[in-house]
Amino acid sequence: MSDIGLVIVGAAGRMGQTLIRTVHAMDGMHVAGAIERPGSPFLGRDAGELAGIGIINVPITDDPLAAFAGADGVLDFTSPDASVEFAGYAAQARIAHVIGTTGFTPAHEAQVAAAAHHATIVKSGNMSLGVNLLAVLVEQAARALDAGDFDIEVLEMHHRHKVDAPSGTALLLGEAAAKGRAIALAENSVRVRDGQTGPREAGTIGFATLRGGSVIGEHSVFLAGPGERITLSHEAGDRGVFAHGAARAALWAHGRKPGLYSMLDVLGLNT
Ligand code: NAP
Repeated sequence: MSDIGLVIVGAAGRMGQTLIRTVHAMDGMHVAGAIERPGSPFLGRDAGELAGIGIINVPITDDPLAAFAGADGVLDFTSPDASVEFAGYAAQARIAHVIGTTGFTPAHEAQVAAAAHHATIVKSGNMSLGVNLLAVLVEQAARALDAGDFDIEVLEMHHRHKVDAPSGTALLLGEAAAKGRAIALAENSVRVRDGQTGPREAGTIGFATLRGGSVIGEHSVFLAGPGERITLSHEAGDRGVFAHGAARAALWAHGRKPGLYSMLDVLGLNT
């Protein structure tokens, strides 16, 4: 199979730079374009040089349509508004769009789903193998342990720059727990607690958020029952795990029929 060309949007960001290093180093793919927003101070800089791997002759531009036209896929860890816009362009160019961005509202989700009628989109709040495997285990545990006896709580910690809460991964794990319990997360989640909250309502799924320092991503799901507690945890030590997952998703999605897929599909964990 020939090498696929991938455009990295949000190229100057924490994940953008990690993606440039990862795609450049991986077999079967190359960096075909690098995009930042109009007015960005990084426009015109070489993407490889910015990411610390030396010149790769890919200048950062603010013209996604031109970049997508000559490429096979897009890796996108930006912001929800930007990802919705890029989904439209990727659909026009008929290329795969891998979305790692988090913090989507239901309206954003609906726009991405609409774009997926014409584009092959892989979207996940966490692109790592470990978290997706953890989600499968959480679903099994939630199914096995009765809601009357075992309370489910999701705890996450991230670096001080993160702008959305709970994290996309915490919500992904909450969705897995809700699936195991055959309930809808939106109607059964407690996303914050403050003041006189009253006793815990049985069957709900609680979230707690910590922010600080340079923590890349830590998640624990507690299943707390009478006299015993199970903890399922994941710790990301390097953003490379998300970038590798995203690159793998692009290879998987290349040439696949339009639709909205998740990392569980890519990893063959969607049972
Ligand atoms: P970041 O360092 O702020 O990077 C985001 C980059 O996207 C910035 O360079 C930003 O530019 C750029 N951007 C925003 N809007 C744009 C637009 N319209 N056109 C072009 N570029 C645009 O953030 P990060 O830590 O890399 O995280 C990015 C996203 O990925 C977050 O939603 C985060 O939660 C998510 N994430 C997901 C996973 C996963 O596995 N799914 C893992 C890690 C992070 P400006 O600075 O100019 O706005």
